[in-house]
Amino acid sequence: MTVLGCIADDFTGATDLAGLLARSGVKVNLHMGVPDTPPAKTAAFEVIALKCRTEPVGTAVSDALAALEWLQAAGAARIFWKYCSTFDSTKDGNIGPVAEAVMAKLGAEQTIYCPAFPENGRAVFMGNLFVGDQPLHESPMRDHPLTPMRDSNLMRLLAPQVTRPVGLANRLVVEKGAEALRNRIAALKAEGVAHVVVDAVSNDDLYAISEACRDMPFLTGGSAVAMALPDLYLKDGTLSADAPKMQAPDLGAGAIVLSGSCSAMTRAQVSTYLNHAQGYRLDPLELAQDGVAAALAWLEKQPVDSAKIIYATAEPASVKAAQGILGTSKAGAVVEDALAALAVKARDLGTRRFVVAGGETSGAVTKALGVTELAIGAEIAPGVPWCFAKSAGQDIALTLKSGNFGAETFFGDALAKL
Ligand code: ADP
Repeated sequence: MTVLGCIADDFTGATDLAGLLARSGVKVNLHMGVPDTPPAKTAAFEVIALKCRTEPVGTAVSDALAALEWLQAAGAARIFWKYCSTFDSTKDGNIGPVAEAVMAKLGAEQTIYCPAFPENGRAVFMGNLFVGDQPLHESPMRDHPLTPMRDSNLMRLLAPQVTRPVGLANRLVVEKGAEALRNRIAALKAEGVAHVVVDAVSNDDLYAISEACRDMPFLTGGSAVAMALPDLYLKDGTLSADAPKMQAPDLGAGAIVLSGSCSAMTRAQVSTYLNHAQGYRLDPLELAQDGVAAALAWLEKQPVDSAKIIYATAEPASVKAAQGILGTSKAGAVVEDALAALAVKARDLGTRRFVVAGGETSGAVTKALGVTELAIGAEIAPGVPWCFAKSAGQDIALTLKSGNFGAETFFGDALAKL
């Protein structure tokens, strides 16, 4: 019986959430997209990864409702809507519209919003989101290619995305513990507040939030606010501890890093990895004009077991220049298509381990590899596990890292861990 059904707005976000839930040892199934077949052999935690963060609102809502329907068929009595810990969205959505659509289906009058992930430096204080020491709008997220974040105040970010009132349960309440928070949320409900932003700056805060909100039919947040739920459900017997451990398959030596993220951390990770790997840089303008043939030819010449990276990762000025010429979505699409084709080529050449950087990029790569279901393995960095899947009948391992996650040595660390 599924205890918690989760809908994630992108692929890396889904693996991040699945990895944190799997820390408990409880079985977690991760589906790339809504499965075509009805639920069978479901786990206590079922996660459906959508690719709807930057889709038009109507598409995002209908995808999320399809996921909801599948999860309800799996028996999920509670639903979690997972978005990025940097609240990646625009004034149109998609965080708010999806939440309101799910609430309407579930008959839920209220939900919470908590993107905090203290282990990764994301904190919410007085409704404002911080990335490390910086307010969100001063962090590198202000220059994200698709969802530039120019405000740090979550109430102001959320309000234009929803139709019902937005409120705040601040740190002074959260610090007092679960009961105080429950009372505050109830008081806001009496005032008609449907959307409650909740502060959290530490794992203790997240624990209090989980405890206070564990039985709400619908929760939303970054992955970390769900982290404590398995233990809480285990403690009270909602969940039995029958989780089989993940057995990693035997994999060949071949490995590749594919990076389409342009975040500040990924830029540092790419330059660190280039110190001990062969690299090939993809240029969106060249790709738009000449296609991916040159990159495929380069890849073919590399020994399967060598350390290598193919990346479109570039500085903000260079991203802007490409977007100015091609348009934002075309620039993104040529890069995603190229990395997807390169992943398939690498697999066909014998590569079995894939380190992928970038949320949208991961979506494109897994789709091209035909990966629809993943088993969750060891965590490499907070929120980034190794995942195992089948592609064209072969066992492969994938790790899908969203932009700012991981340390500078992430790519090397990931391959060393496997
Ligand atoms: P992140 O997790 O850092 O947000 P994503 O893969 O989700 O990374 O998003 C990065 C987007 O930027 C993708 O659509 C990618 O194709 C695009 N992109 C990557 N490199 C470039 C570049 N050099 N110029 C323009 N767009 C790029």
